[in-house]
Amino acid sequence: MTSTPALPAATILGYPRIGPNRELKKAEESYWAGRSDLAALEETGRTLRAATRARLAELGLAGEGAIPESFSWYDQVLDAAVTVGALPSRFADLQGEDGSISLASTFVLARGDEQRPPLEMTKWFDTNYHYLVPEIGPDTAFDLAGDQLVRWVREAAAAGDSVRPVIVGPLTLLLLAKAADDAPEGFDPITRLADLVPVYVELLAALRAAGAAWVQIDEPALSADQRLTPAELSELVAQSTAVLAAAADRPAILVTTGYGHPEGVLPALLASGVEALHLDLVKGQLPAVEDLAGAGATQLVAGVINGRNIWRAELGTAAARVAELASRLEQAGGTGGVVVGTSTSLQHVPHDVTLETKLPAELRETLAFADQKVTEVVELASGSVAAGSVDGPLSVARTFAGVQVPAVRERAAAVTAADTERAAFSVRAAAQQEALGLPELPTTTIGSFPQVGEVRKARAAHRKGQIDDAAYTQAMKDEIARVIALQEELGLDVLVHGEPERNDMVQYFAENLEGFATTEHGWVQSYGSRCTRPSILFGDVHRAAPITVDWATYAQSLTQRPVKGMLTGPVTILAWSFVRDDQPLGDTAAQVGLALRDEVNDLEAAGIGIVQVDEPALRELLPLRTRDHDAYLDWSVASFRLATSGVAEATQIHTHLCYSEFNVVVDAIDALNADVTSIESARSRGEIVEALDPEAFPRGIGPGVWDIHSPRVPSVEEIAEQLTRARAAVGAERLWVNPDCGLKTRGYAETEASLKNLVEATLQVRAAA
Ligand code: GLN
Ligand code: ZN
Repeated sequence: MTSTPALPAATILGYPRIGPNRELKKAEESYWAGRSDLAALEETGRTLRAATRARLAELGLAGEGAIPESFSWYDQVLDAAVTVGALPSRFADLQGEDGSISLASTFVLARGDEQRPPLEMTKWFDTNYHYLVPEIGPDTAFDLAGDQLVRWVREAAAAGDSVRPVIVGPLTLLLLAKAADDAPEGFDPITRLADLVPVYVELLAALRAAGAAWVQIDEPALSADQRLTPAELSELVAQSTAVLAAAADRPAILVTTGYGHPEGVLPALLASGVEALHLDLVKGQLPAVEDLAGAGATQLVAGVINGRNIWRAELGTAAARVAELASRLEQAGGTGGVVVGTSTSLQHVPHDVTLETKLPAELRETLAFADQKVTEVVELASGSVAAGSVDGPLSVARTFAGVQVPAVRERAAAVTAADTERAAFSVRAAAQQEALGLPELPTTTIGSFPQVGEVRKARAAHRKGQIDDAAYTQAMKDEIARVIALQEELGLDVLVHGEPERNDMVQYFAENLEGFATTEHGWVQSYGSRCTRPSILFGDVHRAAPITVDWATYAQSLTQRPVKGMLTGPVTILAWSFVRDDQPLGDTAAQVGLALRDEVNDLEAAGIGIVQVDEPALRELLPLRTRDHDAYLDWSVASFRLATSGVAEATQIHTHLCYSEFNVVVDAIDALNADVTSIESARSRGEIVEALDPEAFPRGIGPGVWDIHSPRVPSVEEIAEQLTRARAAVGAERLWVNPDCGLKTRGYAETEASLKNLVEATLQVRAAA
């Protein structure tokens, strides 16, 4: 390697890619719909990349290597897979004759086509961002197939800018990959490391040739992997990171480890010979002096500015952490010094809080979106903030109305164990059977029904003030009446109102609870072109008035069959919002639990005999390290139970969870103590029922029998077969029949056809008992 200047004093790991006005989303969706061509899309990308470079420079990131090139058309893991040619065999034809994979082909991998399902999608560490899961087999042929990163370096250079290209590293790529469908049983993608690393070596040379002085290699899996021991991971670092560092022709390398701490692997990383190493000092921890012993001349990037929340940092505290890391590095004999950075990429936060002109000023002043966080990094790096000084904005500003509500605090403090207990399940089950009189294998759905154009239009018109409250309420009631009539006609046993009034299952509650604020432009990428606008939970949460009771009672007034009330649970509300960080999450969850308890109790009082409290995000917030699981499950389960334990024995509490790795939370499902749990499971072929030991878990269970992610209508036979199998595993008294969640995103044609088959299959299986 030719000698390069050190990394400048301030940098960030990555920047939002969607554009301040979601330009990327709009351009992509227009291209996918055939309304614009590839050239127009490419132009949008170029403009966004140039604007990002200009913005970051304007905010003060200066010097060679300071500005990351972290753009992605869809997902950074997909980008890495494409770059190294890691295509599953069903997509082999996407690689052109010259070995390259085009942008159009990249979108096919991400979105599938008529014949082929796309790559699977799953959550990126403990965030709400989803990446595409590479599929790797023994025969996956790695080669340098994607050159976009190299082109972007040249593009910047041509504009007179220098960037630090960012790519997901070989370890993380393989550790996050799954075995290809055609791989032999038990195959582990990480066994292909030696074949993959040479392609990265080639890439580094190409980046260097394009003029990159620095490259950023993201290896967050080192902070999160639970399968391999630190010793095994260290060995893998020696076989990959160290090999890259030994390459003759390459830019200087920064390895990042955000989302946690690379416990036990740090010495190997420092010994690898890379020029700079990033540590997440928000989720991770300050390393001990001994662990820094091998640092030599390696520069450390102190990830002290939180890339995942939207609060302004306590700069004095952050400065103290930077100083402490620098001092430990020095004590360990390290000479590289410390650079200030973010804990992760800023892709998890919106662009710019100054666009939020409608937020109360006192709240806005406490917020930092991506641009403000860059400013914080620059300010810290300038040395103008005294370590440990307490003039941080947080302590000054978060004292406005709503942050502390004494009545809410007193109520939370008065909670006792009895508030989270209900009568024994056997007692409840008898009372519920008596009250509800449901048949064996009761049929139901998970809550939402397809959100047709008129519903969306009415919601939008109401928001813009084009229709008044009365007209809006009537439109929603009409939709509820339609959905109730449909469910009766289909012959479902437990009905739902269909959730037409909800744009989003969390935002709806955030808008109707005290303690939350919503933004106008606070979009963050969820996956691909999909963005969400998380609400901001800034204050003590409580409920000013009933939220869902009118809708539910209206629905119930239309039918003799039970209508299930529908709420979003405390953990999910937290997981999909930006949450205050000035008190433990568990305290905040308890407040949300109490607010929901009021709603559950009011639903019961209004004659709703079944209430479902959805917790699809229970798995998502699960800490990355196993040793932290118990503490998390304690408060998360407690908040759910607070919400749901205030009802009579005869009131049936349902919950719904959605993810495939249910085995991690089987105990939690039990601890939630819901009378009925429905679980998204069609994609894992109903295995959940076999994981739930009937002895240990005596309560109702509804494994989804229809995968809603696809418009395919399952046949009666297929559903009947699943039900027969599930009944054999769990017993007829426990089994509920329902599709997976997400009917909202489907059309009516397949919804009606599938639910018809679901009811028919249930009748057959009941008759065959
Ligand atoms: N009740 C919600 C629905 O049916 C649940 C969504 C979810 O599980 N993510 O849409
Ligand atoms: Zn779900």
